[in-house]
Amino acid sequence: MFELVFLGTAASAPSIQRGLSAAVLMHREYRFLIDCGESTQRQILRSGLGFKRLDRILLTHGHLDHILGLGGLASTFARWEAIGDMQIHGGAWALQRVRELMRVAFGAGEARLHVQYHAMSPGILLEDDKFRVRAFPVEHRRTEAFGFSFEEKSRRAFLPEKAEALGVPVGPVRRDLVGGKPVTLPDGRVIAPDDVLGPPNAGARVVFVGDAGRVDDLVVDAAGADLLAIEATYTEAEREIAAEFGHLTAHQAAWLAREANVGALVLHHISRRYSARDILDEACAVFPQTIVARDFDMFRVVKQREIERLDVRQRGENEGLAEAG
Ligand SMILES: [Zn+2]
Ligand SMILES: [Zn+2]
Repeated sequence: MFELVFLGTAASAPSIQRGLSAAVLMHREYRFLIDCGESTQRQILRSGLGFKRLDRILLTHGHLDHILGLGGLASTFARWEAIGDMQIHGGAWALQRVRELMRVAFGAGEARLHVQYHAMSPGILLEDDKFRVRAFPVEHRRTEAFGFSFEEKSRRAFLPEKAEALGVPVGPVRRDLVGGKPVTLPDGRVIAPDDVLGPPNAGARVVFVGDAGRVDDLVVDAAGADLLAIEATYTEAEREIAAEFGHLTAHQAAWLAREANVGALVLHHISRRYSARDILDEACAVFPQTIVARDFDMFRVVKQREIERLDVRQRGENEGLAEAG
């Protein structure tokens, strides 16, 4: 299961309803902060998510509306939250911008917080036996931008009746078989994982793209995602301006969702010039399973289940609020 929370859904400047770009992706014990626009720390507090374990940050790119909140967040981590470490993953240009920002904000005081910068390249960013995060390139005004694919690995169910019939004893050998290792029984017979495992069940997948100037090169990376989140800064009426500034129209985002055959499309990075209705109507004409994200929307993604849309503030987890000082 994945939970994707939008903390800020505005494009380039905030509005009364929308903060600047930031989202949190949660999976088991993992929490990733994706982008950190100005005032993200206040949105984190309002969301009730708290700062704990929010120390791993993925940057889509280095434009100010996606990184300016990092200075404030770093300051709070060091002063109030006793978090000594911050891991920032991003393209080379984004990291250079963040380094400069931190230097200006803290000077020599930066040492209070240990910021680790991880230069990202396309491919696997993090992985354990059940889950992986992949980064892939996104074209957006030559900023070395990235999108992210959060994937549950496919799993094969253990079939106890088959194991029983083959005389596989309960215990560690069964664990080895589930882990894909063949085992030799005391009587010398070799049992292969295929003998006791069912067909692979695909896991859930969430694809997150920030700012993007085109979509034709994203079809393969978005293909089959249960949820695709991507920017929709403009409508077709301003297609030329969108292209000039390296942004998408709602129509283009929906085209990608349709071509990539995703389960649901969630649009963010919404400009003040449009109502959510304008964006939604244009996208739905191409891809009906579209939602325009609001700040504090939480999407719960479980394989083979309808995507749930909740308000993260109703989640009842107020860790962090009490201790924020
Ligand atoms: Zn932006
Ligand atoms: Zn941008």
